[in-house]
Amino acid sequence: MEFAQIGEMIGLASSAAGATGKAADTIQTIKGLFQSGSEPDTDQAAKLLNALATELTAANMMNVEVSTALKALSQELYKQDEFEKEKGRYELYRTRQNDMVFKLKTDQSNGQPDHFICPVCLNRDKLVSFIVGEGDYKICQTDRSHHFKFDYTPMQF
Ligand SMILES: [Zn+2]
Repeated sequence: MEFAQIGEMIGLASSAAGATGKAADTIQTIKGLFQSGSEPDTDQAAKLLNALATELTAANMMNVEVSTALKALSQELYKQDEFEKEKGRYELYRTRQNDMVFKLKTDQSNGQPDHFICPVCLNRDKLVSFIVGEGDYKICQTDRSHHFKFDYTPMQF
């Protein structure tokens, strides 16, 4: 979770609130103009109404921006949560050849067959990528340069 992102959001939210506050001030000024008892200055009233329209548009645009940003943030948090849950189904596993990979926990299989996943993809890209293969090495399905030694079969002469 990016904390800078939250800071940015709070800044945006205050700006939106500030813009609304400014519009509220303009509304008060316009009201005052019509409550003074005398004939209101229509030229000034027109200018103020125009300013109010602009302020409300600005506030509205900022609200849309804030709401979009909040939705994005909420989705980001949801994604993060889903990833943490998924990651929690795996445990670190040392192969017979001392390579480190992640292995599905037996009590977390949810009916899936036993399998291993790539620690590079998991930690760097937050991606669950299977590692497969039948020989001494298993290879990551996402990046073939991620290979892990599981066994050692001596050459037969
Ligand atoms: Zn990988």
